[in-house]
Amino acid sequence: MQYRRSRLLADITYMLCMQHRLSQLLDEGDYSMPRVAPTKMHYTERARAILADARDMLGGNGILLDHHVARHLCDIEAIDTYEGTATVQALIVGRDINGYTAFVPVSGH
Ligand SMILES: Cc1cc2nc3c(=O)[nH]c(=O)nc-3n(C[C@H](O)[C@H](O)[C@H](O)COP(=O)(O)OP(=O)(O)OC[C@H]3O[C@@H](n4cnc5c(N)ncnc54)[C@H](O)[C@@H]3O)c2cc1C
Repeated sequence: MQYRRSRLLADITYMLCMQHRLSQLLDEGDYSMPRVAPTKMHYTERARAILADARDMLGGNGILLDHHVARHLCDIEAIDTYEGTATVQALIVGRDINGYTAFVPVSGH
């Protein structure tokens, strides 16, 4: 339990550093989609994993709405989806790194 809690704290600390870096990019005027996409992708993936772990550690209490973990668990599913899923963020990053797109073409476009 102690190790798992430490891992969660380490992940959250790391994510705060990513947020800080994005703030710096914004200040520097370098806040483009390929710059932001890796953070959105990694952040939501890690947040989902952290919350799943926190929910697991609390057992039944982890799913009861009386506790904050269940609420955050629902919130992160919405955050993961809006403004681009992790998959779509990965496609944006991939396009920037490789110079070609792997987006599945949408019919009618
Ligand atoms: C709480 C909430 C608030 C929202 N607020 C707004 C808002 O204010 N304004 C607004 O315009 N929209 C809003 N949305 C909509 C949101 O932007 C879309 O739900 C989101 O972009 C995903 O699109 P979709 O639901 O059509 O799913 P889809 O695009 O159909 O995605 C379904 C799955 O397919 C994957 N996928 C999608 N495209 C590709 C591709 N080309 N290649 C490979 N995989 C792909 C996705 O990763 C996902 O796993 C909101 C959604 C939520 C949940």
